[in-house]
Amino acid sequence: MSADSAPPLLSVIIPCFNEADGIDALTQALEPVLDDIKDGDYEVLLVDDGSRDATLECIEAWRGRNPRVHFVRLARNFGKEAAMTCGLHFAQGRTVVILDADLQDPPALIPEMMEKWRQGADIVLAHRALRREDSWFKRLTAAAFYRVMSVLAGRAVPANVGDFRLMDRRVVDALLHLPEKTRFMKGLMNYVGFEISTIEYERPGRHSGTSRLSFWRLWNLALEGITSFSTAPLRAWGYLGFLFAALGLVYAGWIVVRTLLYGIDVPGYASLATLLLFFSGLQLISIGIIGEYLARIFIETKNRPLYVVERMDGFAPDWIIDRSQMVMGNIVLPRSRPRSPGDESSSS
Ligand code: UDP
Ligand code: MG
Repeated sequence: MSADSAPPLLSVIIPCFNEADGIDALTQALEPVLDDIKDGDYEVLLVDDGSRDATLECIEAWRGRNPRVHFVRLARNFGKEAAMTCGLHFAQGRTVVILDADLQDPPALIPEMMEKWRQGADIVLAHRALRREDSWFKRLTAAAFYRVMSVLAGRAVPANVGDFRLMDRRVVDALLHLPEKTRFMKGLMNYVGFEISTIEYERPGRHSGTSRLSFWRLWNLALEGITSFSTAPLRAWGYLGFLFAALGLVYAGWIVVRTLLYGIDVPGYASLATLLLFFSGLQLISIGIIGEYLARIFIETKNRPLYVVERMDGFAPDWIIDRSQMVMGNIVLPRSRPRSPGDESSSS
């Protein structure tokens, strides 16, 4: 898109990590839907999250066929949350839709989302009616996570909505002004507020390959969500400590009284050892939880950028400078220099 033309009506942000097998199917499903959008232009913004397969080649081929396709390639795998944030930084549209590359978020729903936006919604969530593909374990842990999050954050976190959603430009700008580096997007998107509307859909299985988010990554994401949106776990240890201190005081009083009344009897090693073990265990857990928060403060204070861009294509230079000033410190954009004297035409 050139600098002087109007921004597109819609930006579709697609984070991709090793999705080479699925890009063609994605193209076929997405393009007809976007071509049907009546009153405005669109851009497809692919963020290649350091893929190690042919994803980038597929993306470049797609851009060769369709100039509305723009892409940013990150210098390594930074994770989906960072890739999505990158997409939000670079998106130019008046509305933004975040879509998975594996067709688990059906592009056919986009017109319905646009309709809700036209009716005044700032955020349109896609609520998953069914998760046939996922194991019972994933479904159960997901349900538990949303429940815990809602209680801890003191604000209902919509259950069974993924990152697939439409957002108005002002929501995106609000999101980009949140300065934290640990970006739990579902939480952040919930935090900013605005007028929310929901549509229902049935979540299909992956088009190709298996989930790129392992159990361990999801666990870390859950931990991230809880620690970055709630200090309740920290407070809980305060209450627990208070409770046990009170119980300890009562017990100590009882021992004093008993000693005064009946004299000293043989000391009980068993109860002593048990108490010692129990309380040192409690202390270790509490230190661990404090450590989780401390680690996050540590990461925030280092103030590193969220991701590093290797290269990109399809953006006007002044737009990028504009955006990177707005989101100070979040972007590293190495300036590319020609490798050999004659080679001036590389990069965006
Ligand atoms: N993804 C990414 N970086 C990662 C992991 C995943 O950009 O480190 C992308 C992936 O290519 C896909 C989306 O995030 O477009 C969702 O990933 P996946 O389908 O594996 O997750 P699930 O649907 O199982 O939650
Ligand atoms: Mg998926």
